[in-house]
Amino acid sequence: MALADEAKRVAAQFDFTDAELNAHVQEFLKQMGEGLEKDGTSMSQIPTYVTGVPNGTEKGLYLAVDLGGTNFRVCSVTLNGDTTFNLTYNKVAIPKELMVTDKASKLFAFLALQIENFLKEHHAEHFESHRRRRATISTASGYKEDEVFHLGFTFSFPVQQRAINKGNLMRWTKGFDIDDAVGKDVCALLQTEIDKLKLPVKVAALVNDTVGTLMARSYTSTGANRSTLGAIFGTGTNGAYIEKTSNIKKKIEGEYDESTGEMVINTEWGSFDNQLNVLPTTPWDKKLDTQSVNPGFQMFEKRISGMFLGEITRLAILDMMQSKDSTLFSDDNSSHNDWTTTTTVAGQSGLYKQWGLDTAIMSVAAADNTPELSSLRQELEKDLNIYTPSLEDAHAFKIVADAVARRAARLSAVAIGAIAIQSGLLKDPEAEVIDIGVDGSLVEHYPFFRDMIYEALRAIDEIGIQGVNKIRIGVAKDGSGVGAALIALVAAKMDKSDDVPLATEVKRELDSIPAETGLSNMAMTVGGLVGVAAVAALWWSRQR
Ligand code: ADP
Ligand code: MG
Repeated sequence: MALADEAKRVAAQFDFTDAELNAHVQEFLKQMGEGLEKDGTSMSQIPTYVTGVPNGTEKGLYLAVDLGGTNFRVCSVTLNGDTTFNLTYNKVAIPKELMVTDKASKLFAFLALQIENFLKEHHAEHFESHRRRRATISTASGYKEDEVFHLGFTFSFPVQQRAINKGNLMRWTKGFDIDDAVGKDVCALLQTEIDKLKLPVKVAALVNDTVGTLMARSYTSTGANRSTLGAIFGTGTNGAYIEKTSNIKKKIEGEYDESTGEMVINTEWGSFDNQLNVLPTTPWDKKLDTQSVNPGFQMFEKRISGMFLGEITRLAILDMMQSKDSTLFSDDNSSHNDWTTTTTVAGQSGLYKQWGLDTAIMSVAAADNTPELSSLRQELEKDLNIYTPSLEDAHAFKIVADAVARRAARLSAVAIGAIAIQSGLLKDPEAEVIDIGVDGSLVEHYPFFRDMIYEALRAIDEIGIQGVNKIRIGVAKDGSGVGAALIALVAAKMDKSDDVPLATEVKRELDSIPAETGLSNMAMTVGGLVGVAAVAALWWSRQR
């Protein structure tokens, strides 16, 4: 079979028809409903507590850290008290060996070390003076609260939150597997390691990245056009949306502000349809799952997000290479193309290693529409040690990679579309826009990912052309990290006793904050940082 035909045959297995799309939306709505009814369903639908608005006069220096699936970010936000602020930011890759280690402390010690490095690098003076004071006082509670950096912790794994700065890890996702941490309070784990380094840092607030994204974006969309959904398409995928409390049938423990009739729900949609009622499954999806650290879990995520798309593509490409008469990445077809040298795949090529193909190369493939596919061919050489690939090779690779990504975008539209339907805003003549904030490298960098989502949304019966014109998907870049810093600010304000149950205490505190911010226009222009002020006031927690 000609190579292009072979690639098309593989690509066809990733077709996701409009009929399937619609069936998925119905199933998604059903599983969302189940999650709102009881615990232990595929989608956790974790209730959160959201209320309040800041006034833009907050001052101070706050820290935020963001543990994603791939990177760990540390940032500091200086709030100047006049609606302006400055932000500094470091990013490190999380070492793979720490994702599957035996002791949670190993991972959290690494995180604490990054915080120390960041403080030394960017806040040396502040850091040293804090440290001197702390060294002269024997207990952590012995120094004044305002001399400590308050830190907001963005943690993108499922957590049962018990207070603003307490939350127990429910399970790992995205390739992490540290048994020791499951069931434990992740804030305490981080604080313990921070204390070992004697850093003047207090973990003040815990926030899920989706919730941070929703809040950040919500602020930028102002007024009637507030955001409805915050969604992540990075290493993993997840979303948090605004739900009517009357739809939340399971018990929401503790007190919460009932006056709005709404609450943010962290869907944990990565585990939508773990039972595979509808999800499409190719042989490569199956293989990926079997070889993963959590077979049978996060089945939706495994078909959508950055950690997995490269691996699906790798498995499909490898199968093609190893099939008997395939010419993919072999000399056979390079002899009759424009490149005279022979094609070789180095033994150490990522093609031969689990997770060896980074989803980023799929973006290169999608972006390269030149007749020679020269950037893709260069990237195959540089990234995957495939030397002098032919045009046909690169073309075949592109066909397969594009198909994997397209299915992912259409599956993403299932979640977004279902939540747009669930919001009731499609049918609400008052609602001009359904705003959706997104974050994560996949949606940010994969060419036309959002366009493919829009195209699929249009094909959903209950949305159609009219509906899709209402839906606005915008990137809330780094809103989650910045949001965490501001939540830390509000947490610091109420931090007289960190054991006070959240719902009562937070509500009391937030009720006292005036509702007018006066920030909107100015902040709208500040790009990725705009969520800051809004986020300060929106609280996420779960009281147990
Ligand atoms: P995190 O999930 O840690 O918050 P990101 O949002 O940066 O981090 O997502 C990282 C994931 O995005 C990785 O799985 C990586 O393979 C993928 N990724 C990084 N760059 C690109 C790109 N240019 N195109 C597509 N995917 C990318
Ligand atoms: Mg992230």
